[in-house]
Amino acid sequence: MIPRYLVDFDSSSLPLVETDVIVVGAGIAGLYTALEAGRNNRVVLISKKSLFDSNTRYAQGGIAAVISDEDSFEFHRQDTLIAGAGLCEPEAVDVLVREGPDGVRSLIRYGTHFDEEDGHFALTREGAHSQRRILHAKGDATGFEIVRALAEKVQNHPNVRIWNDHFAIDLITAANGECAGVLVQRPDDSRVFVRGKAVVLCTGGGGQMYRYTTNPEIATGDGVAMAYRAGAVIRDMEFFQFHPTALSYPGAPRFLISEAVRGEGAVLRNIRGERFMERYDPRLELAPRDIVARAILSEMEQTGSTYVYIDITHESPEFIRQRFPSIYEYCLRYGLDMTTDWIPVAPAAHYMMGGVKTDLYGETNIPRLFACGETSSTGVHGANRLASNSLSEAIVFGRRIAERIGRLPPPSGDVRAVSAEGRHTPPAGKIAERRLKLQKVMVRYAGLRRDRTGLKKALDELNRHLPVFRHQLRKREELEYANLLTCALLTVQSALFREESRGAHYRTDFPEKDDRRWLKHTIIHRELGIGEEAVGGVRETV
Ligand SMILES: Cc1cc2nc3c(=O)[nH]c(=O)nc-3n(C[C@H](O)[C@H](O)[C@H](O)COP(=O)(O)OP(=O)(O)OC[C@H]3O[C@@H](n4cnc5c(N)ncnc54)[C@H](O)[C@@H]3O)c2cc1C
Repeated sequence: MIPRYLVDFDSSSLPLVETDVIVVGAGIAGLYTALEAGRNNRVVLISKKSLFDSNTRYAQGGIAAVISDEDSFEFHRQDTLIAGAGLCEPEAVDVLVREGPDGVRSLIRYGTHFDEEDGHFALTREGAHSQRRILHAKGDATGFEIVRALAEKVQNHPNVRIWNDHFAIDLITAANGECAGVLVQRPDDSRVFVRGKAVVLCTGGGGQMYRYTTNPEIATGDGVAMAYRAGAVIRDMEFFQFHPTALSYPGAPRFLISEAVRGEGAVLRNIRGERFMERYDPRLELAPRDIVARAILSEMEQTGSTYVYIDITHESPEFIRQRFPSIYEYCLRYGLDMTTDWIPVAPAAHYMMGGVKTDLYGETNIPRLFACGETSSTGVHGANRLASNSLSEAIVFGRRIAERIGRLPPPSGDVRAVSAEGRHTPPAGKIAERRLKLQKVMVRYAGLRRDRTGLKKALDELNRHLPVFRHQLRKREELEYANLLTCALLTVQSALFREESRGAHYRTDFPEKDDRRWLKHTIIHRELGIGEEAVGGVRETV
């Protein structure tokens, strides 16, 4: 069994830092929540690297919100529910679509500049959106622009202390079951207990579970693993979205070729040059991501290739350079010119739909513990996220979390947490090699296509690595590996449990959607094990 704490410690002998709110993670969810909570609270904002190392920083396509007169809350709601394939929590989706436009306006107040055209916001369309509702910034550098603006505000905020290069190891809970704070490793490897009236996990996703991912190195699922160890309910981990079009070129990272490129009319071709999406879905290149990704995989297999092409050469070079400056420049580094060349692409792990289960105010089943952004499972994404809904989700729920925290009474009593498992020896072997092995297992058995035999093999393989938890983990990569292993186990167990295909979860041995049996969430709890939960349980309570 995965232990309650990752390392041995006694909180009473650690230095204590007291604050009001502890925000772990500094992507859009963490930066925004810190600003909102910082209006009335002292905040410590913890980031394991710099403010510019996050999934957010790489977001390209944009942020979805109902802005255009031709759009409506109902259209956005329907598109989100359809993409979510029956597993969205309708009330959470309502919150997202209704509060999204205000959220975008607040980002603008915080200094974000979205692209405009003729005095109006330039809105684009992405896969499975029925309307143009995606705001973007600097063409395809939306995430960078949001981080730039929010980081500037946070850095100048009198109530927010920023702790860069600090690693949150574990959540510390009090005897009454409430979350009391966080055990943090400082840059010099010493440890500190940060105590507050609320902890907000904004640690992002877990793309690093997979060998091929669009996510940066930081995406190791730390928040989900920490919350699981502390007794939080983790929901829908079998749903991991693979982006259909990441650059697939020797020596190049899996850089994302945004969905917006297809939104602007790019087509997909196999290596024979044939446009193939009409064989798979009437929505062609703008079908939901899981359908496009599996179609690409089939074409790759049929043609014996490791990639297909994305072709936007029908557009003018000026348009491409102005609309997709980052992607254009990035491809050019590898000698690929989007204005004249077809770009080789393949699917890559992109977005973790599952996460720490929350209510409509971001609170988990552990009192005083909140989760926001990709780490959370608010119920907005269901079995498949609609493109560009994640940035909106982070700000909508970040604001709600700050509101709820504002009403929390101060915590009561002293807290003493002790973990004494006698862990004295470091793990054997090279952690980097173990991480790579885990990533390969996940791609092979728990990727775009799964079946019982493969998932069982993955489970056996991952279980063999459980002894790592009996070792003294100190280096950041060791702690991250333990968290990746935890998330991988949760993903594989959930994928085995769900014997049907839905959204991003595709089982070749159960290829059909089975609403009678499986119109339910998967939930996992460290002590209670795996189970299911009805959809529609989330209610507005405040
Ligand atoms: C290439 C790419 C393109 C994307 N494009 C879009 C898009 O166009 N539109 C859209 O809506 N979504 C997009 N997404 C998804 C979206 O960017 C993410 O879901 C969203 O940014 C997640 O924000 P977050 O704040 O939850 O997490 P992140 O932005 O990933 O931030 C996580 C933070 O947590 C910190 N952290 C993690 N673990 C620890 C720890 N143990 N201790 C301390 N700190 C920790 C990290 O250092 C980081 O600061 C894209 C994702 C990628 C990878």
